[in-house]
Amino acid sequence: MKKQFAVIGLGRFGTSVCKELYKLGHEVLAIDHQEEKVNDITPHSTHSVIANGTDEKALQSLGIRNFDYVIVAIGDDIQSSILTTLLLKELGVKKVWVKAQNYYHQRVLEKIGADRIVHPEQDMGIRLAQHITSEKIIDYIELSADYSIVELLATEKVAGKSLVELNVRARYGCTILGIKRGEEINIAPVPTDQVEQDDVLIVIGHKNDLKRFEDEGL
Ligand code: ADP
Repeated sequence: MKKQFAVIGLGRFGTSVCKELYKLGHEVLAIDHQEEKVNDITPHSTHSVIANGTDEKALQSLGIRNFDYVIVAIGDDIQSSILTTLLLKELGVKKVWVKAQNYYHQRVLEKIGADRIVHPEQDMGIRLAQHITSEKIIDYIELSADYSIVELLATEKVAGKSLVELNVRARYGCTILGIKRGEEINIAPVPTDQVEQDDVLIVIGHKNDLKRFEDEGL
């Protein structure tokens, strides 16, 4: 379903978020206080406007509270990031996702009600480390401090086995959400579906359980 997003701050992170959402077919309003940034994003957004995120009136006149999500991607200017987030929550925006620069920034954002705080550099660093050190982990999404979704490469050990035979939930406490095979993806696997070598298993679970499955099960 098409959703409405606004992205405030069009640095490298905000620009990537904006372009990708637009490519996925969503409605995206791109905001920055620098004209040049706004001009650059125009072909990759539904609307683009020059505005300051800390200007309450400007946010109101853009009808910001009607957006499903607002992403605050203001980088180094922590004060502006905090003030923008505060205003968005006060104006009644339901979901405000904010890029944090550091741990103290994150703590303030939590206090003022940011709905989700992201650390793109750290998250990417963790992913890269996971990827480099494990031949089986293809990708990794952290859902919380304890739970993740990982993409694991099916080895010869599990080739030809059905999901019932693997019995991952009972043995390891994690759940296979989907199976990717080349370009095809099975998002509703049934117990009789078989795994082949080099399939990518999309698995959700506690980090410890996922690690056990990766080490012992695959
Ligand atoms: P990144 O690390 O993602 O590249 P930057 O710090 O380079 O982040 O970019 C942040 C963007 O946010 C810049 O384009 C800047 O113009 C914009 N920005 C900063 N403060 C505000 C503000 N108060 N309102 C709107 N945009 C802002």
